[in-house]
Amino acid sequence: MSQDLPFDIKAKISLKAYNTFGFDYYADYLVEVNTIDHLKSVLVWAKAKQYAVQILGGGSNILLQGNLQGLVIVNRISGIEEVCASNERVEVSFGAGEIWHECVQWAVENGYGGIENLALIPGTAGAAPVQNIGAYGVEIKDVIKQVTVLDREVLEIKQLPAAECGFGYRESHFKHDWQDRYVIVSVTLNLTRVPKLILNYGGLNAVLTSDSSIRDVFNQVCKVRSEKLPDPNSLGNAGSFFKNPVVNDVKHSALKQKFPDLVSFPFGEQWKLAAGWMNDKAGWKGVRQGGVGVYDKQALVLVNYSDVVADGLLLLEQNIKHSIYECFGVILEREPVLLGERRDD
Ligand SMILES: Cc1cc2nc3c(=O)[nH]c(=O)nc-3n(C[C@H](O)[C@H](O)[C@H](O)COP(=O)(O)OP(=O)(O)OC[C@H]3O[C@@H](n4cnc5c(N)ncnc54)[C@H](O)[C@@H]3O)c2cc1C
Repeated sequence: MSQDLPFDIKAKISLKAYNTFGFDYYADYLVEVNTIDHLKSVLVWAKAKQYAVQILGGGSNILLQGNLQGLVIVNRISGIEEVCASNERVEVSFGAGEIWHECVQWAVENGYGGIENLALIPGTAGAAPVQNIGAYGVEIKDVIKQVTVLDREVLEIKQLPAAECGFGYRESHFKHDWQDRYVIVSVTLNLTRVPKLILNYGGLNAVLTSDSSIRDVFNQVCKVRSEKLPDPNSLGNAGSFFKNPVVNDVKHSALKQKFPDLVSFPFGEQWKLAAGWMNDKAGWKGVRQGGVGVYDKQALVLVNYSDVVADGLLLLEQNIKHSIYECFGVILEREPVLLGERRDD
């Protein structure tokens, strides 16, 4: 591979620092882009070379299982801008490369409510709509006004209203059919100056009241999350590894009869089962298999203690899925996005 590359593109780069599991695969080429023009230039370069393109933010919701061919573009486009304000509301546009937690911190410091429950979720603002991040009763779709994207085919900027983005539970069009079509360059949120606190989750309603401030909520969310979740800087992980399975009323009743302590939440006409509780019940909490394992404080989180490749983690995933199916008759679905070709050797 030529080392004489344009636009700050680097060849044969380890991805260890670019995924929070810390797996040590390689990208053929990697570039960190800071502006839309930079992004356009590297997309044109990759197209001329007929290279595949993979967009990354903080790498906190991916599971690498092999090297990435072609060009990896790490989105570092920054900027926070108040685009419109009234006495009650304010619209703020966050550059896709902004660190999400810092965006939440900025909003809280300015007294803008709406995202305080989403504090301490790792990654970038640009990735937040991809799986419609959610925590403590709030999903980012609740406050998204529009997502600004670069159309990779025609290299034009488009504004996509929230209603067109196909948001669902840990889902959006960006995660599926739009994956190779759009790069998110900024996200515009509709925040409020008159906070409406959402405290209906354990860990918040035990400590906070309707008189609490958005800063109180922010602080409490940070406290609870720090106690429960591993910091990817010290222990490789991608947060929740499985989605909470959604089942119908009949299946839910049958499970509740068999497991009276079943943890579940109403989800429209259906029920969402707590996958962490199921993993715990099936005996997985704290289990270690070689260099990987299930976190000992939260059985929904798989962790990487020391592996450089994902094979052990993929095996652990299979073992857990099999055991949960045997125990509850429910198929668990992986939350992080699987990337890279797995080697057969
Ligand atoms: C400790 C921990 C706790 C977590 N807690 C939560 C939680 O409570 N709730 C929750 O929802 N998630 C949680 N996550 C998952 C993760 O933090 C979020 O999904 C986050 O939004 C991922 O951001 P990222 O920048 O790291 O994305 P990446 O992992 O880099 O990318 C994820 C996906 O988004 C795509 N993507 C990234 N940036 C762009 C862009 N600019 N344009 C187009 N596509 C893009 C990538 O191609 C990839 O498919 C947690 C993760 C960890 C490690």
